[in-house]
Amino acid sequence: MYSSSGTHVIENIFVLTFSCFVDMQDSTVLNMKMYLLDGSFISGILPYVEYDSVMKHPLWGSNLIFNNEEAVVKAHRDYIRAGAEFLTTNTYQASIEGFQKYLNLNYDQSFQLIKKSVTICRRAIMEESSGRTIRIMGSVGPYGASLCDGSEYNGNYIGKIDSKDLYDWHKPRIQALVEAGVDVVLFETIPSIIEANILLNILAEYPNQKACLSFSCKDSEHLSHGETFASAVEKFWTNDSRKQLIAIGMNCMDPQLITPLLTSVKTENVNFITYPNGGGVWDAVKKCWDNTQMYQVSIDDLNLWSEKGLKIIGGCCNTGVTEISRIRNLIDNLSS
Ligand SMILES: [Zn+2]
Repeated sequence: MYSSSGTHVIENIFVLTFSCFVDMQDSTVLNMKMYLLDGSFISGILPYVEYDSVMKHPLWGSNLIFNNEEAVVKAHRDYIRAGAEFLTTNTYQASIEGFQKYLNLNYDQSFQLIKKSVTICRRAIMEESSGRTIRIMGSVGPYGASLCDGSEYNGNYIGKIDSKDLYDWHKPRIQALVEAGVDVVLFETIPSIIEANILLNILAEYPNQKACLSFSCKDSEHLSHGETFASAVEKFWTNDSRKQLIAIGMNCMDPQLITPLLTSVKTENVNFITYPNGGGVWDAVKKCWDNTQMYQVSIDDLNLWSEKGLKIIGGCCNTGVTEISRIRNLIDNLSS
């Protein structure tokens, strides 16, 4: 379940003290009806930091690995208390280039900082979980997220940037998370099959590492870049990537798109992951969420999605501790 690299023996010994960690070698590890992922890191951290220190920083929440470790621990601990079984590292917008440019670090320091996000999760687990099984997902956002212009929701950079450059940009981010021993690498808000393919090629270089692949979708049928969600699932759930993927799905969209997206898939026996937005509407003028039109995921939704193969659910933008706690309750009341 952890990196077998001899250079990380100390970290592995530390991790193995969590005797309750479950072996992730086989995707059948998802043997419970449904697992709960945490919610938005931004929503979770805002009670503990100045708004501008996150929302106006080019690295968003990732800058806090360096600038405010204590707040990050508190945010993770809140999600554990809310009942989450998977914690996500705050590395969505972390990159070597980004840390060099905005935090004035060198290459090695930047690499180590990505690894530190995992150590911070472990600290939160140690301080909060009381022996409950909590696993760590290492967040890997798309290249578009680093452009800070919403590119992860249209994929317009795909085709404009060389595949080799995309590979080189992603490789050390993934390597750092694998070396740090995450249970699962979480490729999230990925707008296109092309970038997903590059990410999974890198993943294949670490054949013992498990991962989830989660796309950004623009409507009830298509990825943000335009390919169908069904074709993306068919491609990656039936090729060699399947050996390493424990779930595939979509995040950061209206929860009302989940049913049609899942229904569009014809591939059989898929384990799905999804973590939609809170259901409010982003007001770009006021720069805040209009929650007057919130759609709340119901137990009927969960029962239906469970029948379609949903195994992991959580929350993306505008979902905080209250919502994760509410979903915990729903999962606990799912029909068996
Ligand atoms: Zn989101």
